[in-house]
Amino acid sequence: MKNIYVTQPTLPPLEEFIPYLEQIWENKILTNGGTFHQQLEQALCDYLGVKHLALFTNGTIALITALQALRITGEVITTPYSFVATAHSLLWNGIKPVFVDIDPISLNLDPAKIEAAITPQTTAIMPVHCYGYPCDVKRIQAIADNYNLKVIYDAAHAFGVKNQDGGILNHGDLSVLSFHATKVFNTFEGGAIICPDEKTKRRIDHLKNFGFVDEVTVVAAGINGKMSEINAAFGLLQLKGIDEALAKRQAIDAHYREGLKDIAGIRCADSGSYVANYAYFPIFVEKNRDALYETLKENGIFGRRYFYPLISDFPMYRGLPSAAPSNLPIARKTSEEVICLPIYPELSHDSQDKIINLILEHHSWRG
Ligand SMILES: *Cc1c(COP(=O)(O)O)cnc(C)c1O
Repeated sequence: MKNIYVTQPTLPPLEEFIPYLEQIWENKILTNGGTFHQQLEQALCDYLGVKHLALFTNGTIALITALQALRITGEVITTPYSFVATAHSLLWNGIKPVFVDIDPISLNLDPAKIEAAITPQTTAIMPVHCYGYPCDVKRIQAIADNYNLKVIYDAAHAFGVKNQDGGILNHGDLSVLSFHATKVFNTFEGGAIICPDEKTKRRIDHLKNFGFVDEVTVVAAGINGKMSEINAAFGLLQLKGIDEALAKRQAIDAHYREGLKDIAGIRCADSGSYVANYAYFPIFVEKNRDALYETLKENGIFGRRYFYPLISDFPMYRGLPSAAPSNLPIARKTSEEVICLPIYPELSHDSQDKIINLILEHHSWRG
């Protein structure tokens, strides 16, 4: 049997992409806000239920630019339980990350612990909708309003997620998506910033194009964050299959939950009352996580320990006072127990049964 990895990108049939390429070859517009770029921005606004959106070359440059757009400085409160790009985007802006522990159920920033971390230098909160599980957006906004802080959501995992008030991307001052190959919706590489109004979008559009407003006017030290026409065209094609892909992910999630529900020492994440995107399937192994991780690997199943190590354990962060292990007990425990199991639309029922049986055998064998 072939190796199975934690994810596998969904690719539409190649022949369906050819007409898009032909159009690019004909128009000879390769980037700088061409037709496909404009079409994808509109199509994503419609699909995600947001008013304005600026496409980017990747999610990390989008995060860095979002911080620039709001002129964030000083200290920003964020989670250690995420992909390292979340905190890196702060360092690239000369901002000091302040790590706050996570909630054991949502695995997102614990709102009850945010206030204690606020100092006179704090200017913003950067929460992550980890695994696409929604943050407690109401409580986070209440704290931000109280202390006059901005909120920038790293929504890299949250494509298509909806809570009680609609799309999760309409919260905070800005939200940032990633369309990397490993994400639920991909453009090979790509990302976007969700903007609340036209003025903010205009500023972000300038920032992603070196700060140019017109041929002779540069208003800011912008960067090159533009998405190319090839990526935008691919995004338009991908979007046609997204609902089918999400439905398949939902079925895979359900099958795992059923298969794993009675295994002692293995816990699945709570399935909340919101529209999920089934981007990841984390399990939490009470004892000796790495033994199961290695057993799966020996059998060709390459799960991933997302997120281990914690961001706060990497050398550029671990000297910060907020990175102290005693400050982050829940994040630490979670990171020592987690394995993300393979989940992607083409994952077969048989492969899933093989994974479930391996976990079952491993755990009964351990007694
Ligand atoms: C993938 C990811 C990013 C970075 O996105 P890229 O498009 O790969 O640059 C940022 N934050 C989180 C939480 C991610 O998972």
